[in-house]
Amino acid sequence: MTQQDAQVGQGGGQGERKLIAISSGKGGVGKSTVTANIAVAMARMGLRVGVVDADIYGPSIPGMLGIAGNQKPAMSPDQKVIPAEAFGIKVMSMAMLSDDDSPAILRGPMVTKYLQMFVAQVEWGELDVLLLDLPPGTGDIQLTLAQAFPLTGAVVVSTPQDVSLKIARRGLRMMQQVNVPILGIVENMSGFACASCGEVTHIFSKGGGEAIASELGVPFLGAIPIEPEIVDAGDAGIPLVSAHPDSLAAQAYVRIAEAL
Ligand code: ADP
Repeated sequence: MTQQDAQVGQGGGQGERKLIAISSGKGGVGKSTVTANIAVAMARMGLRVGVVDADIYGPSIPGMLGIAGNQKPAMSPDQKVIPAEAFGIKVMSMAMLSDDDSPAILRGPMVTKYLQMFVAQVEWGELDVLLLDLPPGTGDIQLTLAQAFPLTGAVVVSTPQDVSLKIARRGLRMMQQVNVPILGIVENMSGFACASCGEVTHIFSKGGGEAIASELGVPFLGAIPIEPEIVDAGDAGIPLVSAHPDSLAAQAYVRIAEAL
């Protein structure tokens, strides 16, 4: 690790900040939604929060926070990138650097380079926590990223289906192998509560996230129910924690933010 890499987590001497990766074994499990909502929850707790949208192949954080995807970031006089801001959160995303909707075609080493730039050469100011929304998967890119940054730890998001949990287990083991502390597992889309009678139906089975957490000796951070409002909130650019703070799912996000 170079001297510069070693300083990445410290913001170049701007004080101690947590650098937390949000990861998932596969796409579509709600990783970015979890990132956006816990970021808003942390900001509401009074923390100074930054988010790096490291999901380079499907950057969705700006949209979820109502930031125009193609908004070009401004530069500071000392040539640092000034992050976008929404809900009191500072945001840097690959989406802000591409000209259209075409996916960024980058090879692994380039991805790491860009992300190092996002963490080190962005005018974050003083932060208490910087969340890294990782690309989904457990391949070389994720491994390199986990090793390239002095992570405080990683959160793994999974849905309750067996196949998804098996992939999540692989992700947890990968993080453990490269000595990244596991802050915990989040089970998303965990049951659906009927709006009229309140009965919870476990559409994708139940309890698997908790079982894997205890099997691997890592914390279980919580379960987020299936909540149709989450989709609307994400599409509208107002995360559920802000749009419907009293909903069960919003309360689950807040508890996860508090646990981190
Ligand atoms: P990932 O980052 O893992 O690819 P996203 O966060 O983009 O996944 O979520 C995928 C889709 O699932 C989005 O449309 C999102 O709104 C929706 N979603 C995520 N979590 C939930 C949930 N708990 N209930 C209902 N829909 C959800």
